[in-house]
Amino acid sequence: MQRIVTTLFSALLLLCSSCGAKTGKTSASEAPVKVLGQFNADSAYAYVARQVDFGPRVPGTPEHQACADYLAAQLGRYADSVIVQKGEMAAFNGDVLPLSNIIGVFNPKQSRRIMLMAHWDTRPWADMSVDRPNEPILGANDGASGVGVLLEIARNLALEAPAVGVDIMFVDGEDYGNSGGFSDNAETWCLGTQMWTESMQPYNKDNRPIYAILLDMVGGRDARFHREYFSNSNAQTSTNKVWAEANALGFNDIFIDEIGGSIIDDHVFMAKAGIPTTNIVETMNVETSNFPPTWHTHDDNMDNIDPVSLNAVGTTVLNVVYKEKPY
Ligand SMILES: [Zn+2]
Repeated sequence: MQRIVTTLFSALLLLCSSCGAKTGKTSASEAPVKVLGQFNADSAYAYVARQVDFGPRVPGTPEHQACADYLAAQLGRYADSVIVQKGEMAAFNGDVLPLSNIIGVFNPKQSRRIMLMAHWDTRPWADMSVDRPNEPILGANDGASGVGVLLEIARNLALEAPAVGVDIMFVDGEDYGNSGGFSDNAETWCLGTQMWTESMQPYNKDNRPIYAILLDMVGGRDARFHREYFSNSNAQTSTNKVWAEANALGFNDIFIDEIGGSIIDDHVFMAKAGIPTTNIVETMNVETSNFPPTWHTHDDNMDNIDPVSLNAVGTTVLNVVYKEKPY
């Protein structure tokens, strides 16, 4: 993903950066909220680590294919069915990328559906790194974290079915974009999502998701998630739900109820295709006031994955899902 506009208020940031420990507990003055599901952060962490164990998952490499097979098999343990959409997309530099979008379908007969998504490919370059910038990154946070959280959500959905239909989509080819410019390069990113929105398989106009939630870079240390700018304007209903749920669950110091940066990511192409999508992504990191410091560097490894962040995101999204009604 790529940031396209900076919206930054340092005074507010300083205020928020001193908010202290992230526990996820409600404060004493609030009634305890019933937490739905049993999101296990250690399990999510293990799913992240397993992906990183493959090495960089760059489209066209054996590691990428091995991880695709692993993700389809894992999702297959939990979902009613798994669909793998395969195709080729041309990257900005002429590389032709073999892509796989992996979709797990829960409650196939339910026509009211929501989608949860994350990209599973990793960036072929460490272009934010001084050290070895032409070598691929491990993408523990940028890629594996969102997928790991969603696999743990899938495990929960298999134990206790949601009331609505849910589709979990792992999209490919998000991070092969051209970082050399601004918004005119937008369509060089998110190639897997652009491939999917052409057909939206397996849906028709009556059962396609009413909204989607995108998880990207959700496992960073001391992560904080502001309302990403385009999500807040294009997907107000679901964005409000996510931040309200996070607040009710006591994750106020992780889900900051303020507008964050505006970025090019899969949610932009989903919205363009008519599916409003909320992006949970770190755009105002405490240290950088931007993406996390590990972004597109070789430090994006398991040493910098924080189960506390995975837990806040996973528990929040799982509770949003379980509260959706089939009407
Ligand atoms: Zn990235």
